[in-house]
Amino acid sequence: MAKIFCVANQKGGVGKTTTAVNLAAGLAQLNQRVLLADLDPQGNATMGAGINKADLKATIYQVLLGMSDIKGVRVTSETGKFDVLPANRELAGAEVEMVELENREKRLKDAFALVADEYDFILIDCPPALSLLTLNGLCAANGVIIPMQCEYYALEGLSDLVNTIKKVHANLNPDLKIIGLLRVMFDPRMTLSQQVSSELESHFGDKVFKTVIPRNVRLAEAPSYGLPGVVFDPASKGAQAYIEFGAEMVERIKTM
Ligand code: ATP
Ligand code: MG
Repeated sequence: MAKIFCVANQKGGVGKTTTAVNLAAGLAQLNQRVLLADLDPQGNATMGAGINKADLKATIYQVLLGMSDIKGVRVTSETGKFDVLPANRELAGAEVEMVELENREKRLKDAFALVADEYDFILIDCPPALSLLTLNGLCAANGVIIPMQCEYYALEGLSDLVNTIKKVHANLNPDLKIIGLLRVMFDPRMTLSQQVSSELESHFGDKVFKTVIPRNVRLAEAPSYGLPGVVFDPASKGAQAYIEFGAEMVERIKTM
């Protein structure tokens, strides 16, 4: 049975999609069977996996609204060697349309049941909002991975996210826990980064992943080639860090 992880942070541009795509590809390189679910109407994870979001006949939107099942919608990322449940702009409509539906928070969870035994990992790339879409991600997941930049304002939104996760845990998904905070876009030359990083460690202890993802331009360049960074330039520092993070996750799930 797949372990299911949400990559979430309601702050925009903090590295959620970069983490989801590169963790998916990194895990695939470690021979793990991976499904990456794109839960963001921006469709960035879809594009980053080398799938053209404009060409899709069906997306996660149809799955959430019960018009199709995952087997009919998933596509394979040839570049990343993992499966993708893709998204594009049409997903924005689901936010409103799902409100009317029964079990509206658990549509994604129910949909995953069909394929959960085909994968070791299902990763969900969440949009930058604490919306009904993100709620579907949190209800479907065993755990949350929170990418964070080590800067002054990073901690500000964290309490809202942690409170949301606590509420979902209490009311909707007793399985849910924070797996860890992932320090991303890390610049070791900045004193502030070092300070925030050690603050995170002293505050959250072993909830902070050991792996630190450096700021690395190769990770930012890769999506324009439709390639995960770990495939685009495997020797780069950013790619190496995501491979290491994949290994850390494989270890983590052994104890779950
Ligand atoms: P959104 O909230 O819009 O979904 P996001 O949290 O998914 O954004 P990304 O799209 O992963 O964030 O990253 C934001 C930008 O930062 C992108 O241009 C990405 O290429 C770049 N980026 C992410 N991680 C790194 C890194 N480690 N080094 C350099 N650039 C990075
Ligand atoms: Mg994103």
